Amino acid sequence: MTRVLVVEDDPQLVRALVITMQARRYGVDAAPDGTTALRLAAARQPDVVILDLGLPDMDGVDVIKALRGWTRVPIMVLSARRASDEKVAALDAGADDYVTKPFSMDELMARLRAAVRRTEESPLTPGTTHVATAEFTIDLLARRVVRAGRDVRLTPTEWHLLEILVTHPGHLVTQQHLLREVWGVTRAGKTNYLRVYMAQLRRKLEADPSHPRYLVTEPGMGYRFEG
Ligand code: CA
Repeated sequence: MTRVLVVEDDPQLVRALVITMQARRYGVDAAPDGTTALRLAAARQPDVVILDLGLPDMDGVDVIKALRGWTRVPIMVLSARRASDEKVAALDAGADDYVTKPFSMDELMARLRAAVRRTEESPLTPGTTHVATAEFTIDLLARRVVRAGRDVRLTPTEWHLLEILVTHPGHLVTQQHLLREVWGVTRAGKTNYLRVYMAQLRRKLEADPSHPRYLVTEPGMGYRFEG
């Protein structure tokens, strides 16, 4: 049974989530605040955490940071906040996905299934050296990309970006994370670099670069590799 820890201080929403998830045969624990959440996460070892960012005792981002000190459990953030800064902070702290309130239960359940599936398929186990799609293959050790039987020439920057994305398949990687890793800058104002390099990568790897299938944009947030 898949175990879900719901961290939410709105009792009506908790009740709706518990009923919906139990009907789908998930095991559910609920915590009304961050302190209880951290205790239950350690005691119950959930398979997924659904976390409201606005909690009475702690900032949800601090809950994520505390969890990431010891577990890679998928964390889905529920955010009532419109500001994408908050979502980015949550993703940068190690959340895997976010859903903005109000959300439909169907959407949340679909995201939940996807989060569980990703832990079964990914992240790439250490030692994984090849990534294959219908369009191209990547040899991570040899730093080689082959498309339609031919080597694709990538610049070091393009390679670095691609490597980060493909080693986190299905995960939203934030603009800030990519900028910091690839260019060593933390200011969000440099996102034009990213757009330029992502466009180049798509031209080299995607059958239809203007409708990318593998290197997907999450508007205002970051990028996702769909393998
Ligand atoms: Ca709340």
